[in-house]
Amino acid sequence: MHLTHLECPRCGTTQDADRLQNLCPCGSPLLARYDLAAVGRAVDPPRLAGRAPDLWRYQELLPVADPAHRTSLGEGFTPLFPAPRFGARIGVPRLLVKDEGLLPTGSFKARGAAVGVSRAAELGARSVAMPTNGNAGAAWATYAARAGLRATIAMPAAAPAITRQEVRAAGAELYLVDGLIGDAGRLLAERTAGTGTFDVSTLKEPYRLEGKKTMGYEVAEQLGWRVPDVIVYPTGGGVGLIGIHKALGELRTLGWIEARQPRLVAVQATGCAPVVRAFQAGARRAEPWPDPTGSVAFGITVPAPLGDELILAALSATGGTAVAVSDPDLLADRQEFARSEGLLLCPEGAACLTAARRLRETGWIDGDEQVVVINTGAGLKYPE
Ligand SMILES: *Cc1c(COP(=O)(O)O)cnc(C)c1O
Ligand SMILES: [Zn+2]
Repeated sequence: MHLTHLECPRCGTTQDADRLQNLCPCGSPLLARYDLAAVGRAVDPPRLAGRAPDLWRYQELLPVADPAHRTSLGEGFTPLFPAPRFGARIGVPRLLVKDEGLLPTGSFKARGAAVGVSRAAELGARSVAMPTNGNAGAAWATYAARAGLRATIAMPAAAPAITRQEVRAAGAELYLVDGLIGDAGRLLAERTAGTGTFDVSTLKEPYRLEGKKTMGYEVAEQLGWRVPDVIVYPTGGGVGLIGIHKALGELRTLGWIEARQPRLVAVQATGCAPVVRAFQAGARRAEPWPDPTGSVAFGITVPAPLGDELILAALSATGGTAVAVSDPDLLADRQEFARSEGLLLCPEGAACLTAARRLRETGWIDGDEQVVVINTGAGLKYPE
């Protein structure tokens, strides 16, 4: 394993990676750092090519020392396919969709859960707890069961019903709250105080991000170790966006991809868009969204993302932007996409289609650019 330490992106202090860690004392999430020179000596793209098509093919860039601690259900290496008919309709003929709906538990939360649970187990955790908008809880309950850990999950009662059933089926303890994800977090903090349960809330431990960053490695590898012009990402807690940015930075340091960065786009729902508002104001931090209204894109309804600073930094470092979209628009694009390309996206993925369409209309995206939309979950999880 080439993991060396954890680093605080805000105050620059480092922490030991060999024991369970939550936030930096300054309040920022911690980032996992590797000896990339050693990684470069251990592996290169041609040697990667022959490995199994899952996220563990990037093992040198992942934080699990002993393969026996890998908790896997076959996650990763999801298809990146062209969407030429829908793309032509919105004036982006080189549109590509990465379909994370094929992952175990039907969402890309499986990536973070696979790596996060593996590392928590390796460092001796016996039980984990997290608030969730649904999919993260389903994935962590599932992978915790696979690893033999206990899980305690709290979610809004309004979260997609299937995710509740997944949590219960995996034998986790489930609390439903009449409120939003922040309320679920407060309830959990009360219930688990003093129990020794490891808090695996979004970005409060450093390794979920390491699982989600593998989307960035895959996009680069699937494009022949090149990067697209734009990556459009439905942003709740922002873990995937921060992760893709981190992953591409690591690949550039390794010299596996060119210096050019794809412009990252954070997509939110109009009723809860703290990142969009902060980006438009040119702010470094996002204010909590005061009066969130529900969206069918439930996974991106996060009024106070802990990673606000890292999300906004990734957008500005890449020349990216942030866009808020409405439910009627994203549902219309979802329908249109299913008709023209034959795949039912999750509402959050469909929100990215609307954002791409709008950014093409304003000229922010050029007609000859290659644009990757991340479909973060399976449309089948949302029968309603
Ligand atoms: C969690 C989730 C998101 C948001 O992911 P973050 O990385 O936390 O921003 C988007 N789409 C779906 C389907 C999700 O479950
Ligand atoms: Zn710090």
